[in-house]
Amino acid sequence: MNKFLTFFKNLKDKILDIIFPLNTKCIFCEDEIVDFDKKPYCDRCEKFAFNSGNKCVKCDTQIKSENIICDHCKSHKRFFEKCYCPLNYKDSVRSSILRFKDSNAKYLAKSYAKLISQYIKNENLNFDIVTFVPSHKNAVKRRGYNPAKLIAEELALLENKPCIETLIKINKTSPQKNLSYQERAKNLENSMIITNAKAIKNKTLLLIDDVVTTCATVDHCSKLLKPYASKIYVAAVARNHLKKENED
Ligand SMILES: [Zn+2]
Ligand SMILES: [Zn+2]
Repeated sequence: MNKFLTFFKNLKDKILDIIFPLNTKCIFCEDEIVDFDKKPYCDRCEKFAFNSGNKCVKCDTQIKSENIICDHCKSHKRFFEKCYCPLNYKDSVRSSILRFKDSNAKYLAKSYAKLISQYIKNENLNFDIVTFVPSHKNAVKRRGYNPAKLIAEELALLENKPCIETLIKINKTSPQKNLSYQERAKNLENSMIITNAKAIKNKTLLLIDDVVTTCATVDHCSKLLKPYASKIYVAAVARNHLKKENED
């Protein structure tokens, strides 16, 4: 999209925001709610939206109560320390994220960032720099934005940390949705290059994505960042839980 069109698209969004304020609706199911600033979701969504219970210490997927780490993390080397995901990628959370990613609902980035911020605070996570999973320039052109970058920027503001671009997607990858971990990893090979390596030297990074499923993407990013950064943590808005603990 050229600059001229982007300008009018942004202007249209601003006008619509004024006419139809979005801060009266549940960020997940869009039902009317009472006090958005206190709690931006309805009671019904609250019941299932949050990623709770016994979770893998590495990738935050829900696992049987007697386990500490999921079979997937046991059998795949992870280049990040730990992944944090406040929400479950299901039902109205899923439709909310799809609106955010594919239907220009950029206003959700602020609420998502708040949820990540609260979640990592509870876990006492310390980091120096916020960064994000890159999008290919064609995808950014089509959407008008990189969803992961929007969340990272909002989170950096909340956490008072710099948000730095560290990776550039140089080759398009086919959609990951129906691929296994191995296929996803293969798909990602040679798809990204590192940038701003100096700025992340010996720093602890918090790498942001929107949704995590097999961790193939965030792991690939972490692998590229690892020679420079001292540690990499990952945070995504929602966890698409592995159906089987040993799912590929
Ligand atoms: Zn709701
Ligand atoms: Zn795991």
